[in-house]
Amino acid sequence: MSNKLNILKYYLLFRYRKFYSARQLKFFQKRMINRHLSFVTENSPFYHRFMGKMLESLPIIDKKIMMDNFDIINTVRINKDEAMEFAVNSERKRSFSPKLHNITVGLSSGTSHSRGIFLVEDSEKDKWAGFVLAKFLERGITAKYNVAFFMRANSNLYESVGSSDIRFEFFDIYADLENNIDRLRSFNADIIVAQPSMLLILARKIESGRLSIHPETVISIAEVLEKEDEQILKRAFGLDVIHQVYQCTEGCLATTCRCGTLHLNEDIVYIEKEYIDKRRFIPIITDFERTAQPVIRYKLNDVLVEREYECPCGSVFTALERIEGREDDVFVFNGTDGKAVKVFPDFIRRCILFAGDISDYRIVQRSDGGIDIFCDVSSLIKEKISEEFRQLSADKSFLLPELRFYPYSCEKGRKLRRVESQRKT
Ligand SMILES: [Zn+2]
Repeated sequence: MSNKLNILKYYLLFRYRKFYSARQLKFFQKRMINRHLSFVTENSPFYHRFMGKMLESLPIIDKKIMMDNFDIINTVRINKDEAMEFAVNSERKRSFSPKLHNITVGLSSGTSHSRGIFLVEDSEKDKWAGFVLAKFLERGITAKYNVAFFMRANSNLYESVGSSDIRFEFFDIYADLENNIDRLRSFNADIIVAQPSMLLILARKIESGRLSIHPETVISIAEVLEKEDEQILKRAFGLDVIHQVYQCTEGCLATTCRCGTLHLNEDIVYIEKEYIDKRRFIPIITDFERTAQPVIRYKLNDVLVEREYECPCGSVFTALERIEGREDDVFVFNGTDGKAVKVFPDFIRRCILFAGDISDYRIVQRSDGGIDIFCDVSSLIKEKISEEFRQLSADKSFLLPELRFYPYSCEKGRKLRRVESQRKT
């Protein structure tokens, strides 16, 4: 059982721990990293050989290395096959309270060909809960809140936040939509937490007059919230800011401030930046709160873009312009000079945005390099989209492959990736 007192303790810690300068933050991170490394090198067989070493001398790892060495990286002696079987069974039965050796085991919601698992201890869950509450409960923890949580699995990670003043209602995104909407109508949610694809469904219901709800806070999780989708949500919910939690299995990396800017959560993760140009970087994360399954110098495949100007909120945490998407989703074309040309998802997205007001779309580069565009638009708009692509290919000097148009579709429960590359480079 999670300990409510513990959650409150962490809530107070995160809420009132302030950083006034970059120097103070750096000093704090250094202390946390040192403390964490002495725990990890003591308890994780994989990291044991690095005892007494600085963070920089530890290896940079990725999902594959993490999964290949799962048994020796974790500090709680859980075997990967056992954990995987347990997680799959729990998810299949839609039953999420049982734990394996007192540890919560979850399946990562990545794409199916690279399924991962994660382990979380009770104390880490309390910290997570305290952290989320500190970031988003604007009226303080003593006020009453109804929180509607849409997610793909009722991991008991999230249930730990329930208390007498904070009511959590869980909505399974695989369940019947109309049923969920009926429940949402009667729940009177102050806070709605859901992935953008679900928030967009709610927004359309609101705009068409079929749903009347007035949450004070809307938090987007799990998928990247595209700018244009953010605008739709602001308008439908009548809010100035749509909050975001940029979280992956490996940790809670960034959250929005009161201005709506995403800031890296540098009070719980240390992030090394591998720059790919002036402001774009790939994060390498070290989470100094994760103990059961340490996350040390773990390289993600997302591309983040730093904000050019400081955020008016005054936070010393790195401000982000946006999350560009997975590095995997960079499109690769044959250049006119015979070399490969890489194009960031952002440019691909613009070909749709510039062509007209298109709210639902997906663009996929197939493994053979061709492009499939899923959207419900007139032939005139299709021609405009094609023209944008022709312009892009001229700007970037690549040979434009065939574009194929299909009606819009997005598999239920699947992560919404508007721009996706299936091409392996
Ligand atoms: Zn800010």
